[in-house]
Amino acid sequence: MTRDPRYDILFEPVRIGPVQAPNRFYQVPHCNGMGFLRPRMLAEMRGIKAEGGWGVVCTEYCSIHPSSDDLPQPYATLWNQADIKTHALMTEKVHEFGALAGVELWAGGAGAANLLTREVALGVASKPNLGGDPFQTRAMDLKDIRNLRRWHRAAALRAREAGFDIVYVYATHKYLLSQFLSPLHNHRTDEYGGSLENRVRLVRELIEETKDAVGDSCAVAVRMAADDGTGTPEQPVSDERREMFEMLAELPDLWDVNIDDYEHEMGVSRFIREGSLEKTMHYVKSITSKPVVTVGRFTSPDTMVSQVRRGIVDFIGAARPSIADPFLPRKIEQGRVEEIRECIGCNICYTGDSMGVPIRCTQNPTMGEEWRRGWHPERIQPKNSDATVLVIGAGPAGLEATRALGQRGYNVMLAEASTELGGRVARECRLPGLAEWGRVRDYRVNQIQTMPNVDVYLDNNLSAEDALSIGAEHIVVATGSKWRADGFGRYHDKPCPDLGPAAQVFTPDDIIEGRFPQGRALVFDDDHYYMGSVLAEALVAQGVEVCFVTPENMVSAWGVMTDEQYQTQQRLVQLGIQIITAHGLDEFDGSSARLSCVYSGQTRVIEADAVVLVTARTPADELYKEIALKLESDASESDPAPTLSKIGDCDAPAIIAAAVYAGHRYARELETDVEQSEDIRQDKLFDPD
Ligand code: ADP
Ligand code: SF4
Repeated sequence: MTRDPRYDILFEPVRIGPVQAPNRFYQVPHCNGMGFLRPRMLAEMRGIKAEGGWGVVCTEYCSIHPSSDDLPQPYATLWNQADIKTHALMTEKVHEFGALAGVELWAGGAGAANLLTREVALGVASKPNLGGDPFQTRAMDLKDIRNLRRWHRAAALRAREAGFDIVYVYATHKYLLSQFLSPLHNHRTDEYGGSLENRVRLVRELIEETKDAVGDSCAVAVRMAADDGTGTPEQPVSDERREMFEMLAELPDLWDVNIDDYEHEMGVSRFIREGSLEKTMHYVKSITSKPVVTVGRFTSPDTMVSQVRRGIVDFIGAARPSIADPFLPRKIEQGRVEEIRECIGCNICYTGDSMGVPIRCTQNPTMGEEWRRGWHPERIQPKNSDATVLVIGAGPAGLEATRALGQRGYNVMLAEASTELGGRVARECRLPGLAEWGRVRDYRVNQIQTMPNVDVYLDNNLSAEDALSIGAEHIVVATGSKWRADGFGRYHDKPCPDLGPAAQVFTPDDIIEGRFPQGRALVFDDDHYYMGSVLAEALVAQGVEVCFVTPENMVSAWGVMTDEQYQTQQRLVQLGIQIITAHGLDEFDGSSARLSCVYSGQTRVIEADAVVLVTARTPADELYKEIALKLESDASESDPAPTLSKIGDCDAPAIIAAAVYAGHRYARELETDVEQSEDIRQDKLFDPD
């Protein structure tokens, strides 16, 4: 297939100072939970992005000195000669495919707690740690500033030696340099504080010194926010920030522009749409002749072309779209736009960094497994036999298993009880703000439709006899799970006998299927992720008066991991929902609910006509058990029995990413000799190999 000429502009080479990017696809620095701890996993993952057509592939934030240490969030390091070797693993992979490699040099300031290195963090002032750790920074004196400049220069030289083509001065995301720039944070009285010129001084010096050190062969990029957090929604950019860009306009070789509000910059699709930074950063290109890049969860090539043609950016920046589909550029280049695996904006990828573990992605189950398991996002080993596989259930697990088995060349029969494909994704994407989650289904259904070896049977609620009578060599059950209506969960570790009458007790499945309570409903969220708050919003839209109760200290506490907690609670507050934190639901009698405080045990009574229990799910594994039983009782040596497996929520209810992963893994490992977990390669810092 050939590329649509409308998209030609995206494949023009662009000069960045002394180097040239082969196209406009730019993977901006993004964290991934690997950093200096897992360099081989990292190198393989970045290399695959280059293979997929990203013209520039950057590292995550890369510490220049032990005084910037962010563990347990894994970051990259360029502290010494040994680090050069580990980065070279990545730059070599990236260069192999003709892409440029960029490194984001990082000084943490009040953002770094230095829990590993136990260095005193350096700050623009003596300030409390931004992550809430009980430490303050030391206010940098002039000697500290000279040291910082020296470390930055040394790190830039090491970066060049490691093979990087683009070296960043990283002046945003509330880290040290952005605090020097900020009128809110920089109240110094020396030549690095006070006037605009003084506050810009350190960044200017670092740009000049980096250029001096490596600028003959490396481009110097600056990452800076288009606004400084002092604006208003109507006028987000202060005059001063614009002036700052004007002062530095031509100094770097490239501007990587973001915005001050990180939760917006990388906001979940529930709250933030594609291309939403434009309204704040659009002016930057009018100020500089240097190339500009920004992000915006761009997955539509038409939006990308529009951004370039309208003079908003020169490069299409991406973190998440490149995670969900490392081959996004190649697919556009080869006229395979409908094959793009579009990011759904769920931010599961970000949880790796939040929790200090390697990245995962809902849409791309191979993300993070490129080196460890040798999984490639586009290639898969061919089938090992002419066997037929029966997949039961077309949720994310069943759909992904079907897609990947089909890709391997197996004959696949997919049976789905309902009249639509997608399982929980099809249902949940109808809830407020979750429309983009439907992309999990759409990508897979589009792929399956092109596969002559896959047959889909809707409206087929299979029994164990049905499943066995088909005669498939392999049966995989992916029948999902059901929300519990008995209160069992984290708060109640056995079913709660005092939750009645049943007609006034609702589960998420009821609401999703359109069975709504009337009057005043108490949503008891013992799940702590998105479901409770999304349902609360859905109920308000139906005119139900909602009281939201959680044993946690905040709404949707796990949303901290996906960086959506603040927006979630804000939304509930804005909707006028009564929020009661740190309370469990003990009893509901049809007109009132008794809650108790998780700290004191003190009880209170809330009037309610209904309760909505968001607590735990039961695996829908009856069919699996019935088939297993039949196989056991019918076992006959002359007739080889099919293999039987269960995957996804019917095995262990979890997030959608886990179901997709389980489906993918099943397909990868079918008829191979991969033993569970034995094949996992452990990436260790001091691996003797
Ligand atoms: P997961 O997240 O594990 O993929 P889902 O709950 O999203 O699970 O999807 C499970 C799907 O399985 C649903 O679409 C459901 O209709 C379907 N299903 C359940 N039982 C059967 C059955 N006996 N035969 C065919 N499909 C079934
Ligand atoms: Fe996008 Fe979600 Fe994948 Fe992150 S985890 S890249 S937000 S689909």
